[in-house]
Amino acid sequence: MRTPIIAGNWKMNKTVDEAVTFVREIRSGLNQQQDVDSVLCPPFVALSAVADAVRGTKVGVGAQNMYFEEKGAFTGECSPAMIKPFCQYVILGHSERRAYFGETDETVNKKVHAALAHGLTPIICVGETLAQNEAGETQEFVSGQVKAAFAGVPADKAAGCIIAYEPIWAIGTGKSATVADAGRIIGLTVRGAIADIYGEETAQKLRVQYGGSANPSNIADYMSHPDIDGALVGGASLKMDFVAMVKAAAPRS
Ligand code: PEP
Repeated sequence: MRTPIIAGNWKMNKTVDEAVTFVREIRSGLNQQQDVDSVLCPPFVALSAVADAVRGTKVGVGAQNMYFEEKGAFTGECSPAMIKPFCQYVILGHSERRAYFGETDETVNKKVHAALAHGLTPIICVGETLAQNEAGETQEFVSGQVKAAFAGVPADKAAGCIIAYEPIWAIGTGKSATVADAGRIIGLTVRGAIADIYGEETAQKLRVQYGGSANPSNIADYMSHPDIDGALVGGASLKMDFVAMVKAAAPRS
């Protein structure tokens, strides 16, 4: 049984004060859902305050990015050791970072290694553009992204990683992928790529989220698919909707 995991990617939203106010509003609701892992991913500057605000609960904290080097002349970057005191997770390779900040499969792979070396759980984002989707290239492209991200990662570490399948055309657009399509890509392509590298057992252990306009109205449908273990949530994670989504992700007995 894979524990459901709902992670909120706040992107460049909320000041430190706004972050703390919001976390105080949602933390008890999130903590009540003991059978679902919930993760808050604020901007770097709010990581420490959010970590303080969730202390004593089972709510997790994640960074939205990090650099792979340990230290040095990398203006504007944060190292794994810098974020580690405040978080357990780190989002890597989000499509916005790939599109606007030059993230590549190679840098994502280096970041995956660095995160694991520091005991951080990477949430590795993959997903195709609309043009790739319409050209029938989704399977090959997403499979390639997964295999590149995991290059050189040993099986025992791979099983603990999280992959977020996020079709780029569904992010922030209100046009979510159908459950059948998301489930098929996650099951056949994402888990298939992991199975090709590590075998079926590892592919069945690793948790895979869907991301792209997930909200309180559609989350239960995604969770009903046996291959979908949760969601990476953007817009809806900035509101009370996030608590509703975590509750809706609870396993049905
Ligand atoms: C995201 O940015 O990872 C995301 C899924 O955003 P949204 O939920 O707003 O589509």
